[in-house]
Amino acid sequence: MKPIQITQSSMPDFDEFSEEIRGIWDSRCLTNMGVKHQQLEAGLEQYLKTPNVSLFSNGHLALEYAIAALNLTGEVITTPFTFASTTHAIVRNGLTPVFCDIDPDNYTIQTDNLEDLITDKTSAIIPVHVYGNICDVAEINRIANKYNLKVIYDAAHAFGITIDDEGIANYGDVSMFSFHATKVFHTIEGGALTFKDPSFKDVINAHKNFGITGPETIEYIGGNAKMNEFQAAMGICNLRSVDQEIKKRKKVYNRYVEHLSGVKGIQLSLPPESVKSNYAYFPVLFDGFKLSRDEVHEKLKKNNILTRKYFYPLTNSFECYKNRFNTRETPVAKFIAERVLTLPLYSDLNLDDIDKIVTIIKS
Ligand SMILES: *Cc1c(COP(=O)(O)O)cnc(C)c1O
Repeated sequence: MKPIQITQSSMPDFDEFSEEIRGIWDSRCLTNMGVKHQQLEAGLEQYLKTPNVSLFSNGHLALEYAIAALNLTGEVITTPFTFASTTHAIVRNGLTPVFCDIDPDNYTIQTDNLEDLITDKTSAIIPVHVYGNICDVAEINRIANKYNLKVIYDAAHAFGITIDDEGIANYGDVSMFSFHATKVFHTIEGGALTFKDPSFKDVINAHKNFGITGPETIEYIGGNAKMNEFQAAMGICNLRSVDQEIKKRKKVYNRYVEHLSGVKGIQLSLPPESVKSNYAYFPVLFDGFKLSRDEVHEKLKKNNILTRKYFYPLTNSFECYKNRFNTRETPVAKFIAERVLTLPLYSDLNLDDIDKIVTIIKS
């Protein structure tokens, strides 16, 4: 039997992509914010319902450069229940991550005791819309205003999500989206920042291009994180079909929900009414189920079905952070990380395969 992967990249029609890149042979413009780059930024501003988009070579660098361009200092409050990228981006900027626990139901940053972590060194909060579950954006906004902190959302999982029709990109000062091949919308590798302040565009564009602001002026200590024209062309193609992609994911997602909701010892984290989801992931929490998370993972693996302990381990227990920071205990995050498993989910996953996966879990 062919293994069932955890995810599978969506691909545009081959001819459509060939047609899209044809112009690059005429223009010989391969990178440096060319025509395709501009076209994709405009398309994304429309799709994400947000006024300002800046593309990057990948999501991680977008986050790193956002932190640098906002001149953050000292301590940054974040959660350990995320991909390595979020915490690394903070530390690679010479800042100190301060780990806040997560909400036990939607796994995003806990706002009840977030304020206790704020000191006179705190400059920002970097919460994560993990699995596309939306953070408590209103409360985070209130706290940020009260203490004059910047907010950068790691929205890597949240492409296209809306709350009461408001684009998720419009919360906080900046949001980072990842367009990695495994994400709902991709540009092979790629990412973007969205932001409120239009004057930030020139600043961030300079940062991703060595800090260059004029033929003979270099105003910032920038680096290189530009998206090239081939990546942008892939994005232009994928953007045309992303609604279709999400619709197909929804079918897969709902099939899982049908099978798994109400099963004893299994907890699902479903989006509330007001949220239009992108069905990026299907996390399942095994708590009091006849098998542990690790046993389910192994059992499925024996049947050629790949699942992912996403996110495990927590970033505050990474080897590389040992004895470097206060990796304070985050008991809820620890509890979730030891029990959660994401199941295979992509648009072309057969409903029959889902039935099979669920039967194995329940048998
Ligand atoms: C994918 C991801 C990133 C990094 O994005 P890349 O485009 O792979 O660099 C950051 N944070 C989270 C939560 C992610 O899932």
